[in-house]
Amino acid sequence: MNDQQFIPCPTENCSGNIFFDPHELMRGAQFVCPICNTVVGLAPESREIVNEAIEKFDELKRDIIKMKKDHSMS
Ligand SMILES: [Zn+2]
Repeated sequence: MNDQQFIPCPTENCSGNIFFDPHELMRGAQFVCPICNTVVGLAPESREIVNEAIEKFDELKRDIIKMKKDHSMS
């Protein structure tokens, strides 16, 4: 498992998937549709919201890992 996620390309009639790393996205990186070269990124005012979401996501992942460890020990 890694952090790679993708979103469908926002361009009309483009079926591309734009892969992105949420942590890079949060830092202001931009990602390009491999089909139509549309660039997606976050508006600065959106980063705070995504930051929160990613922090929760990371917490959730930690919980999942912990649960797996607990389970494997029993
Ligand atoms: Zn596209």
